[in-house]
Amino acid sequence: MTFDLTPEQDQLRDAVRALGRRYGHSYFVEKARAGEHTTELWAEAGRLGYLGVNIPTEYGGGGGGITELAIVCEELAAAGCPLLLLVVSPAIAATVLARHGTEEQRKRHLPGLADGSQKIVFAITEPEAGSNFHRLGTVARRDGDGWLLNGRKCYISGVDEAGHVLVVARTEDSSTGKLKPALFLVPTDAAGLTRSKLDMEILSPENQFLLYLDDVRVPADALLGESLDAGLPALFAGLNPERITVAAMGAGTGRYAIERASEYTVTRKVWGGRSIGSHQGVSHPLAHAAVQVELARLMIQKAATLYDAGRDLEAGVAGNMAKYAAGEAAALAVDTAVQVLGGAGMTTEYGVATLLGAVRAGRIAPVSREMILNFVAQHVLGQDKSY
Ligand SMILES: Cc1cc2nc3c(=O)[nH]c(=O)nc-3n(C[C@H](O)[C@H](O)[C@H](O)COP(=O)(O)OP(=O)(O)OC[C@H]3O[C@@H](n4cnc5c(N)ncnc54)[C@H](O)[C@@H]3O)c2cc1C
Repeated sequence: MTFDLTPEQDQLRDAVRALGRRYGHSYFVEKARAGEHTTELWAEAGRLGYLGVNIPTEYGGGGGGITELAIVCEELAAAGCPLLLLVVSPAIAATVLARHGTEEQRKRHLPGLADGSQKIVFAITEPEAGSNFHRLGTVARRDGDGWLLNGRKCYISGVDEAGHVLVVARTEDSSTGKLKPALFLVPTDAAGLTRSKLDMEILSPENQFLLYLDDVRVPADALLGESLDAGLPALFAGLNPERITVAAMGAGTGRYAIERASEYTVTRKVWGGRSIGSHQGVSHPLAHAAVQVELARLMIQKAATLYDAGRDLEAGVAGNMAKYAAGEAAALAVDTAVQVLGGAGMTTEYGVATLLGAVRAGRIAPVSREMILNFVAQHVLGQDKSY
């Protein structure tokens, strides 16, 4: 057993950290407040190969795994730039394409995802179905050679920045007559696909949208994979990378908040010459949050290692646990940082309260803490399903 990164992974961590620090949290906040995207950071990360670390080399990527992509997510977040679209485009879309796309789809989309010139976002959530994906109501019907898609999606991140949306729909299985899931690569400018931006209480340069699919006609090759049978495994293929990278983003955000807070509490003096950090009522909550973040990081490392070793089922358990732990730890760390900074904690200048909305959302999305507890209760503890 080793807890060390390889020399290459160490170099990647240092390089991404340096890139993130050059931009920093103030860049992230300014972009969000201006209603702009982190275009420069995304482009530079793409040019340097960080967005494609997990994409196979034959399609322009770095040939690494989710361990490497988690490093990228964590270090950018630790520099104050938690980029949600890393979870959607390189983690979910690229993995799904690399594992289940046709050769033609891989050639067409992966090089652009690897160099950052293209983004593909992911649309599964629906207003009526919510956490219950068995109730998905977006339906794809055969239409000549192609497909006709109808339905609604909600909270879909980054549609305004992406060339395609990977839409999860249902198709009628000709053998059983039952509906089964299928994924479609839908261009964001397709006729019949409209969107409206949701007002979210999250300070982020990335936006969420309601999507309306009204008779969206796509050609046969928009169906992800060689056949309808690719749908279910493709859907599952995205889950572990999603959970592991979102957890890494949470752990990085937690580190960022604890670092900001620690810098402040060693220098702030209001009772004679002693720092406020010398009071255990201040230092213990920070130390407690640091322990939680470090525990989450350990679970992320385990989940990524299992995933990259091809042990998907075990990675599923570890990835869910990592996501749960990191979501809770990030929320705790940011809230604690705000508290120990006192009034400064609520200012924009000190850059911690700016993350409150994002870490709160991290306990709900992309999978809520309750649904993870359901998973663990059922699959680890053998409890009966309650829903
Ligand atoms: C910032 C943000 C970005 C997002 N980006 C995307 C995206 O890019 N693509 C996408 O497809 N979706 C996205 N989502 C949607 C996200 O995945 C969902 O919000 C999430 O899965 C929860 O679904 P819901 O909001 O419908 O909650 P609901 O399903 O309505 O649940 C409401 C509450 O009930 C709890 N609950 C539900 N069922 C159970 C149960 N059986 N047992 C116990 N508790 C239960 C939930 O945990 C939650 O607390 C995003 C959401 C946010 C906030």
